Amino acid sequence: MHVPFCAHHCGYCDFAVVAGRDELIDRYLDALEAELARLGEAASVETLFLGGGTPTHLAPEQLDRLLATLARWLPLHPQGEFTVEANPDTLSDDKVAVLARWGVNRVSLGAQSFASATLAVLERAHQPEAIAPAVQRVRRAGLMVSLDLIFGVPGQSLQDWRADLLQALSLQPDHLSTYGLTYEKGTPLWKQRRRGQLIPLSEADELTMYELAMDLLGERGFEHYEISNFAFSGRRSRHNQVYWANHAYHGFGLGAARYVHGVRSVNTRDLDGYLRKALAGESVTRASEQLAPEERARETLVVQLRRSDGIERAAFTEQTGFVLDELIGTRLTTLVEQGFLHDDGQHVCLTRRGKCVADAVIERLL
Ligand code: SF4
Repeated sequence: MHVPFCAHHCGYCDFAVVAGRDELIDRYLDALEAELARLGEAASVETLFLGGGTPTHLAPEQLDRLLATLARWLPLHPQGEFTVEANPDTLSDDKVAVLARWGVNRVSLGAQSFASATLAVLERAHQPEAIAPAVQRVRRAGLMVSLDLIFGVPGQSLQDWRADLLQALSLQPDHLSTYGLTYEKGTPLWKQRRRGQLIPLSEADELTMYELAMDLLGERGFEHYEISNFAFSGRRSRHNQVYWANHAYHGFGLGAARYVHGVRSVNTRDLDGYLRKALAGESVTRASEQLAPEERARETLVVQLRRSDGIERAAFTEQTGFVLDELIGTRLTTLVEQGFLHDDGQHVCLTRRGKCVADAVIERLL
């Protein structure tokens, strides 16, 4: 469920977000309700993820209304997982209380860095001092905490990154996501890079930072269960594992993506168009595509290889109808010999070396 409103548009972000149009929030909630009503009847779900945007940018009463709408149309299984994304400076005690009241059990906090200079390059709205109190608020309400961090930011040294990881660990999160900075076309950061106003880190430096995260978080007992994600035992994100298994999921809201009955579709990213169509009871889907079975199998291979559990041959065949080895042939053996993949006969997964160059390995495999 996508909520596009943010206090401010960060320099690296190319999600479907809007800043400075808060007067549209109530209409957006009407539109989401109208989009959900097209389901016809409530659909029980095992996991929910409310992201954006910044869902916690909404006022407590707006958040309460949104969560009531979700409970009406997408009732959560009693043992379900319900995650909400939040920015540290938007998480007041009353908003956390609203989340807890509606059964949210995880909060994913966009910390990104504990260094003011790094946050300034990323054009984040919050200061480092806002992160620890936000974590404490979530903890006091009995919810799990996941922290997002970004590495490879211009000006960030290996020592800065180590300090970020150590500060994050000192807050004892249940889960950590570490993302290498990407320069998405059209973002302010991409433009600055093109004009030579900032110097990106070298690939070698980024790799060293990634390896440091693997070492440090591994030493502290975190399981590296997906290329960018680390969790304490039993605290993996169940929701995101659906994506990495290539199983079906719904999606609602501006720019939301879904994968239902083998059809991938995305909603419009135009806020005015979304509001108009949803409120008129029309479809807000911008594009959809039915994948051929072999394409679906290849896509399954790509996403499952992101997991440290990798691809389980028998489950892969059951899910896709294809035999893994027939799809990729001798390229698998070559990549195993080169030390990028591990194959025990049942599972195929990336080695540590393979994780460092995962995109290239997947490209060669296909
Ligand atoms: S707060 Fe998150 S969603 Fe909003 S602009 Fe920044 S990075 Fe994008």
